[in-house]
Amino acid sequence: MEYQIVTLFLIAILNSVFGYFVVRGNKGVSNTLFSLVTLGVSMWALNLAFFIKATNLDSALLFANLYYISAASIPLVFFYFSLIFPNENSVFKKKYYLFITPLALLAIGMLFDNNIIVSEIFNSETGKDVILNKTNYLIYGSYFLFFVILSYYHLLKTIKKSKESIEKTQLKFVIWGTSISYILGMLFNLFLPWFDSYEYIWLGPPFTLIMVISIGYAIIKHHLFNEKVIATEILTFSLIFFILIRTIISETLQEQLINGVLLLVVTIVGILLIRSVIKEVETREKIEKLAEELKHANVRLKKLDKQKSEFVSMASHQLRAPIASLKGYSSMILEGSYGPVSSKVKEVVARLFTSSDSLAFIINDFLNLSRIERGKIEYSFSKNNVETLLETAVNQVKPSAKENGLKLSLFVNTGNYEAIVDGEKLNQTFLNIINNSIKYTPKGSIDVKLSTKEKKIFIEISDTGIGIAKEDLSKLFKKFARLDHANSVNVKGTGLGLFLAKEIITAHKGKVWVESEGEGKGSTFFIELKKG
Ligand code: ADP
Repeated sequence: MEYQIVTLFLIAILNSVFGYFVVRGNKGVSNTLFSLVTLGVSMWALNLAFFIKATNLDSALLFANLYYISAASIPLVFFYFSLIFPNENSVFKKKYYLFITPLALLAIGMLFDNNIIVSEIFNSETGKDVILNKTNYLIYGSYFLFFVILSYYHLLKTIKKSKESIEKTQLKFVIWGTSISYILGMLFNLFLPWFDSYEYIWLGPPFTLIMVISIGYAIIKHHLFNEKVIATEILTFSLIFFILIRTIISETLQEQLINGVLLLVVTIVGILLIRSVIKEVETREKIEKLAEELKHANVRLKKLDKQKSEFVSMASHQLRAPIASLKGYSSMILEGSYGPVSSKVKEVVARLFTSSDSLAFIINDFLNLSRIERGKIEYSFSKNNVETLLETAVNQVKPSAKENGLKLSLFVNTGNYEAIVDGEKLNQTFLNIINNSIKYTPKGSIDVKLSTKEKKIFIEISDTGIGIAKEDLSKLFKKFARLDHANSVNVKGTGLGLFLAKEIITAHKGKVWVESEGEGKGSTFFIELKKG
């Protein structure tokens, strides 16, 4: 008899723990209802155990009533579960609340009459024998079967309607797991007692193990809740359970005390441990969610960035033609192609020319940037003389240096400066860097030096300008990077020149970098190219 009681206790604990896991995994309505089913099973098993254990026939009758009422709650709650599962959002129609009436009536009836279902209990060789009130028992059994059949009708209907394969799998596990438990449970606890065979009554609850295993497997397989948390919880609960049993069976008071204290410590530490694991898991889940959101945002940003590049490219192309004609006509006016003009007009047109020239330069930068971003920049490499390219660039910016009162000099060491380069892009790069020196040098001079050593060509552009603070050096050569002090000297700027210079020089397998002793101490830009 002891083993029957132990088995029933274990089944009660197992079902409660399982029910707890199910709600912990997801606090939705169907999980809560399913946990209530397992709670009903636990109560049923527990009262059955107390019934078997009871030495007094009166308390045996009380426990018999309790386990009949606990058992009666199972098909009812399972029925509600079958209405909802697996769709969390569906709500019961009001009429379904009426289904609670028979259970309520039974509970109330039992309060007044102890013998509604069990009319008599007596001790026998096999344990306890029960004489049932057959009429009421028939109603009780019909009630039971009615809800079981209705529940499976609903579950089968849902499985038929369900389109998602994961839902179908979940439903199948629930249907198989619960129906086998139901059939065997009803066999030993509902049908056999009808035929006056009461000794196998304790066998019903253990069959709920099939349900626990099958649904538990389905839950874990489909990651409905986190395995790490479960592992910690199972370990902690097993430990607590083990110490609890030890405490109960301790023979001396001293042993009992030690085990009791141990139980308390393990429970507290266990709860803290579980909490920290849950927290860790939650944090990880949050981070994963954020990462996922970030991924989406990134994809969206990339798309927007692409659109922006396309827009910049389109706009720059459209602007090129009018600016080119502005430049062309103003230069023709200055050259006198349209007859003599007054010096005042000449001055204005000259300004028009310089402005449109720098605008054309900026637009070219934007166009190159959009080409780089769209991966559409093309280089046309050919044999060129870097000395000639540099000389051209210096000559192009000479007027502007003069205008700003700066001394611009070019120093060339004798040597061979032939290299395979994209002449146009390299010229743009030289112009960008020398123009910067002019822009950021309020007074003084700019020296451009060209030298060669072995298979390399070196270009050095140094100025006596505003310089760059040590901590700012690493900020340069990035897209739209402009240092704060740049604005104070020259507000006109896009922060693209150096970025493009780096892109272009890197495409030439060369290097570009800057050195400066600090603010106000001038800067030197270096370009290193390979000889062709
Ligand atoms: P922009 O000149 O249009 O702002 P650049 O990419 O050409 O863009 O330069 C980026 C930044 O680097 C400038 O805003 C300025 O702060 C700094 N810089 C570039 N050249 C010099 C220089 N010769 N002296 C001091 N600072 C410079």
